[in-house]
Amino acid sequence: MEQQTLAIHAGYDKTFGHGSMSVPIEQTTAYAFRDSEHAANLFSLKELGPIYSRLTNPTLDVLEKRYAALEKGASAIAVASGQSAIFYAIANLAEAGDNIIISNKLYGGSVTLLTHTIKRFGINAKVFDCENPTDLEALIDDKTKAIFFESLSNPQIAISDVEKIVSIAQKHGVMTVCDNTVATAALFNPISWGVDIVVHSMSKYTDGQGRAIGGIVVERNGLNEFFANSSRYSHFSSPDESYHGLVYTSLPLPCFCLRIRLALLRDIGACLSPFNGWLLINGLETLDLRVEKHSQNALEVAKFLTTAANVKAVNYPSLKSSSANTKVNKYFKNGYASGLLSFDVGSFEEAKHIIDSVKLFSVVVNIGDSKSLIAHPASTTHSQIPQDELIKSGINPATIRLSIGLEDPKDLIADLTQAFN
Ligand SMILES: *Cc1c(COP(=O)(O)O)cnc(C)c1O
Repeated sequence: MEQQTLAIHAGYDKTFGHGSMSVPIEQTTAYAFRDSEHAANLFSLKELGPIYSRLTNPTLDVLEKRYAALEKGASAIAVASGQSAIFYAIANLAEAGDNIIISNKLYGGSVTLLTHTIKRFGINAKVFDCENPTDLEALIDDKTKAIFFESLSNPQIAISDVEKIVSIAQKHGVMTVCDNTVATAALFNPISWGVDIVVHSMSKYTDGQGRAIGGIVVERNGLNEFFANSSRYSHFSSPDESYHGLVYTSLPLPCFCLRIRLALLRDIGACLSPFNGWLLINGLETLDLRVEKHSQNALEVAKFLTTAANVKAVNYPSLKSSSANTKVNKYFKNGYASGLLSFDVGSFEEAKHIIDSVKLFSVVVNIGDSKSLIAHPASTTHSQIPQDELIKSGINPATIRLSIGLEDPKDLIADLTQAFN
């Protein structure tokens, strides 16, 4: 089936329960067992079914099946936030003594998580150039467990060279993990390009109205076979002492998400609430329509910015003048590039003046809302980073980032025009 049909129907059987057309919210902590044998069978995986909502929940099960279908994957697991999705994906691959290779253009929270926090757990990160990954192959060694990048990066709006990254990773049998939050499953499916694991912050375009935090991990088909034959990832094919000797690759279930669920979600517990899961299911129903409109509106605003006297540079891949224009047409549906764009003005002070002068745009460090948002990374999200490092990661002190919403673009352009004066 096509994406828009899957977004509305996948994973839910409407004959379930009372035939409720809206997916029911199963707001429960735990589930009653029929008897002691039923309980024992569930715990030993002889029978599959809900035990406790930290591990599984029927509302989240619909969300997981729907996301797996949209991302062309074998299985998905919904978690509390995008940050926890990234942590689980990496912690499922690497342990103390291992390393990962991360993109030079990433979300700020991913930079701190992957370079500082996981270092305290003994996992080191090396950095590669996601747009021109000629440096990637030389960074891979026996202890490399993951290559992590964003398909369309936040906040730089860079498009990774996915084809090249995947071909290098496959040559060495290293897993690729792609954060597809900004591009969304509506514009791009990393798994169709050979990526192994996809993660999302569902707090952005999946929700679409800035109401709920959530994250998801999706695995491709065929990982059980891959791990069963890979010495790099022997922990999937050797007994898990914490689960009475379970060998994940021996089960007829997609093993990557299963291991996150049975070991990491069990022990670390950053689970998604059923209510937030329900909001996110409803968000998915309109994802395609929204992302198309966000992209069209952003292109109109970007075109206006290229003509504005105060603007020195505009960064939006769908502009014909953009250096990323070939890549956006190669990878993303209709050459759309989401609602995220950025532009540079003359100075740090000028950027601050514009932020303080807009009326319709809200000054918010979020993206993917139906309401348009404006942010100045150098004085907010990235204010702890020294200026030379900022410039290296593609952020100029005079850069303003916009997340274009679903308002009429004429009103957005009028608001920017008055703020420029
Ligand atoms: C927001 C964001 C995250 C973190 O997601 P949360 O749901 O806020 O935890 C990760 N990656 C990208 C690209 C993001 O934009």
